Amino acid sequence: MSQVVTRIAPSPTGTMHIGTARTGLFNWLFARQHGGKFLLRIEDTDRERSTPEATQAILDGMAWLGLDYDGEAISQFARADRHREVAEEMLAAGHAYKCFSTQDEIAAFRDAAREKGESTLFLSPWRDATDHPDAPYVIRLKAPRKGTTVIKDQVQGDVTIQNATLDDMILLRSDGTPTYMHAVVVDDHDMGVTHVIRGDDHLNNAARQIQIYTAMGWPEPVWAHIPLIHGDDGKKLSKRHGATGVMEYAEMGIPAAAMRNYLTRLGWSHGDDELFTDAQAREWFDLSGIGKSPSRLDMKKLAN
Ligand code: GLU
Repeated sequence: MSQVVTRIAPSPTGTMHIGTARTGLFNWLFARQHGGKFLLRIEDTDRERSTPEATQAILDGMAWLGLDYDGEAISQFARADRHREVAEEMLAAGHAYKCFSTQDEIAAFRDAAREKGESTLFLSPWRDATDHPDAPYVIRLKAPRKGTTVIKDQVQGDVTIQNATLDDMILLRSDGTPTYMHAVVVDDHDMGVTHVIRGDDHLNNAARQIQIYTAMGWPEPVWAHIPLIHGDDGKKLSKRHGATGVMEYAEMGIPAAAMRNYLTRLGWSHGDDELFTDAQAREWFDLSGIGKSPSRLDMKKLAN
């Protein structure tokens, strides 16, 4: 295996969520175990929602947990020119096209399809057009309409998506900013990320991301989508279950080592071992030890 490179790519839009902390920990353990690199990319492309305080909260959470990353934290927004460059390259190669359909037209198409009980999947009339008006446009991927895209996931197994169920996703918006789907692939590729380990709320996105890797002729990373953390009632973790921000635990006086141990075991197991040292976690951590069902946050266990 070439040098392992992992990353976390949080969006700085709130506190550092406990799920992000666990994703960071798994990526860190995996990289450190393989003598690889662990990178931090702040996905601050959405200028309206991103805040400097939220970026600071991520840095604080990483520092508290002792998750040292290699190099500087990378700002995704700072890479906007590169995102545009790759979209242009895809246009020139015929893997993408300019779509002039307006949001109103797309909404009208969807309303009409819904009324007729037909699929609301929007297929742009501009996909094969050669004449272009002088008007605002988005750049869409010319995605395969036939066949399947298979996500070979280390946790979920092979997940097969029918290409006909995916639309031609937008890569670049009309104001020239990249979508998450496009920026994440360009960045992971450029940073040499070999393993994408993240929450399984991104599993379906992986199919779309694979389509971009394929169009660019870039090697895909290894995928590992981890089941999300749920509350003790089995429902999606939210404020009503207790603290969802990792620094809230620091404020409660939980030692960082206990938090690391707890988070490592939240979704990953090593036989019956409940407690282990940092060195053991580094030695034992493996993607095959990640469970397939959501893990439950047990506040009582953590506080004792
Ligand atoms: N920015 C995304 C998020 O915060 C993560 C993207 C990824 O890990 O691919 O959910």
